[in-house]
Amino acid sequence: MILGGGLVGMTLALAAARAGITSHVVDKADPAELTAEGVDGRASAISTASWNLFVNIGLGERLEPLGCPIDAIAVTDGLKPGRIDFRPEPGDGPTKDSLGRMYANRDLRLALFEAAREEPAIAWHTRAEAVERERGAHGVAVTLDNGAVLRGSLLVAAEGRQSPTRDEAGFALARWEYNHRAFVTALYHDRPHDNVAWEIFYPAGPFALLPLLDTADGRHRSALVWTVAEKDAKGVTGLSDAAFLQEVAARMGGVLGGIELAAPRMSYPLRFHHAGKTIGERLAIIGDAAHGMHPIAGQGLNLGLRDVGALVEVLSDGMRLGLDPGDAQLLARYERWRSVDAFTVMFATDSINRLFAVPGRLPSAIRRLGMGAVQRLPALKRFFMDEARGVSGKVPALLRG
Ligand SMILES: Cc1cc2nc3c(=O)[nH]c(=O)nc-3n(C[C@H](O)[C@H](O)[C@H](O)COP(=O)(O)OP(=O)(O)OC[C@H]3O[C@@H](n4cnc5c(N)ncnc54)[C@H](O)[C@@H]3O)c2cc1C
Repeated sequence: MILGGGLVGMTLALAAARAGITSHVVDKADPAELTAEGVDGRASAISTASWNLFVNIGLGERLEPLGCPIDAIAVTDGLKPGRIDFRPEPGDGPTKDSLGRMYANRDLRLALFEAAREEPAIAWHTRAEAVERERGAHGVAVTLDNGAVLRGSLLVAAEGRQSPTRDEAGFALARWEYNHRAFVTALYHDRPHDNVAWEIFYPAGPFALLPLLDTADGRHRSALVWTVAEKDAKGVTGLSDAAFLQEVAARMGGVLGGIELAAPRMSYPLRFHHAGKTIGERLAIIGDAAHGMHPIAGQGLNLGLRDVGALVEVLSDGMRLGLDPGDAQLLARYERWRSVDAFTVMFATDSINRLFAVPGRLPSAIRRLGMGAVQRLPALKRFFMDEARGVSGKVPALLRG
């Protein structure tokens, strides 16, 4: 029983179905509203490992033409000279083709929802919420607000940051505010991006340009994630489109030539949270319900998809041995597997953000020295690239190529 059918919850339902596991998916939203143009203006960097998962659950053909490969990541400290280029060389590890692909969240959602509709192993309950959850020795039961009672052996919470199932289970959360907002939109630009993602670090917050596919009529496009201190966010929200573009252009230093808006502007508050526990009696929490981080490294969704791969692998291994999917030992294996990965990614993301947030000339000089070292040391660069691709550590089978 999966509560929350967002990007992570619905991927879990499909991956489980392909492994022969049936599920109920309950989501309070209307899928038509979620996939309406302009509702979720974000684009996600899908790591190579996450891409493998989509291929392995049968979405490869549908998604292949919609993603823009990231061939290199350029990291700079403001617009100062000296940058690190993460560009895989031939023979650079298992997935040398690219550092991932950029997808509009809307395209991912449309593909997942279409596949879910066609999958008989998924019973999808939309515009429905759980009003009562019972977990006991013999199974779980969820009462929906429309009166229906659903029964199963395991409850999975994939309800995102505000997960009521996690809170009801009493799982403590470590959390803090970054006091920043991410302004997200897409830009048309005169020069081609050459499949390069830019992470430009300013003391006020990182500024990212992520390559998107050209439009059908050949216009070049990139997604923008501009992080702004909360105290300045109101001012940025109030800017006219022309003034907003002027501010954006000033931070881009002309790297992509002249720019125009290609999508509505949206903004998201940035918070860090990490649940101390991810399992309970017949309960597992996954995706943003378990962990939420700064979008600087584009890892939130990828981490949630690794939760999916690990959970499905643990459950199908256990069921092959005749164990119940809610078995406590299986859930303990899932938690052990995921906790180190989640902590490492979250710690690294949080540290990068803090490192670049220190203002002043000396910290900036030290950062550029460090960046120069990474630029010159292929082994260190490879380590960072493997992290970005999601191929370090013990990778679930569903996320392998
Ligand atoms: C600006 C920004 C940029 C980002 N860029 C990237 C990136 O490049 N790469 C990346 O990997 N990640 C990125 N992320 C993170 C990524 O968007 C999230 O990690 C991801 O969306 C989490 O998916 P989820 O399914 O766990 O949660 P959500 O997407 O929040 O989905 C939760 C679902 O549960 C449903 N729900 C909620 N409450 C209930 C309830 N009570 N009952 C029933 N249903 C409920 C909701 O309707 C929703 O469908 C970014 C985040 C931000 C803010």
